[in-house]
Amino acid sequence: MAEREAVKVIVRCRPFSEKEKAGGHSCIVEINKELATVAIHDPRENADPPKTFTFDSVFDWTSKQMDVYNRTARPIVESVLNGYNGTVFAYGQTGTGKTFSMEGIRDVPELRGIIPNAFEHIFSHISLSSASTQYLVRASYLEIYNEDILDLLSPKAGKLELKERADVGVYVKDLKTFVIKDVEEMDRLMTFGNKNRSVGATEMNARSSRSHSIFTITVEARGGEEEGRIRAGKLHLTGATGDRLKEATKINLSLSALGNVISSLVDGKSSHIPYRDSKLTSPASYNYDETSLLCNKPKINE
Ligand code: ADP
Repeated sequence: MAEREAVKVIVRCRPFSEKEKAGGHSCIVEINKELATVAIHDPRENADPPKTFTFDSVFDWTSKQMDVYNRTARPIVESVLNGYNGTVFAYGQTGTGKTFSMEGIRDVPELRGIIPNAFEHIFSHISLSSASTQYLVRASYLEIYNEDILDLLSPKAGKLELKERADVGVYVKDLKTFVIKDVEEMDRLMTFGNKNRSVGATEMNARSSRSHSIFTITVEARGGEEEGRIRAGKLHLTGATGDRLKEATKINLSLSALGNVISSLVDGKSSHIPYRDSKLTSPASYNYDETSLLCNKPKINE
């Protein structure tokens, strides 16, 4: 691994929405890309002094999807193709841009997010690799909703159980995995899974604060220079929300539970855990409490 840290925390701040502009909110977030710092300004009367936080990288509202992919997910996907496990975890309040960063707008090439870019990356790597290496790509998609594990690709299956075995580590019993041949198949699977999550707009906020989904891609390679050996890497792609200040404790608990699930899933037999976490936050003044709280939160696996 070229990268030294097993976990990287990256902040991306989205632009103001039209509604926020019209609402006359001030911008409370000051980003320094060179120093990788975010300063949060308290908009209230008798304001606290600004708080500055340092991250592994920061992206401001001018950042492009491909730059975000190249600096965050690309090295993780590279290591998955080399047989390591990795996770891209988007965390933030509802409306901060997790879906935009992870999925993006799939019909517009330059607005595609990390997940479709990871699909492209994996299959273009496979198509460019030597014919003597055979690849097997599989995908699964689960949702943790109120501590229940549901299979988004087999919605009638009901609640699934988390199990542990000495040889494979922690796993979800009976979770369906599908063999995938190309980007289009991966895309269709993701769309199908997303449909199984979707609920009415009024329920959306309540639901999203209690729901985490994990899309997992397993890449197995056999042959090539290492004749007879199988290299297998797993990529977990996930998003989670912490909604309101008063719910922070509960959400912290469920997040650390999610962190445990992910790190166990990632753990497997490998001693190296290239486990990353990415935080997304909101720039507008009415979100000061959540945004400064978010920056104060410990990394989820600490
Ligand atoms: P979340 O998934 O965290 O609830 P969304 O991804 O749905 O948030 O983002 C909320 C809104 O902000 C959406 O309309 C989205 O298109 C827009 N948005 C988020 N991030 C960006 C960005 N970097 N550039 C432009 N628009 C963005």
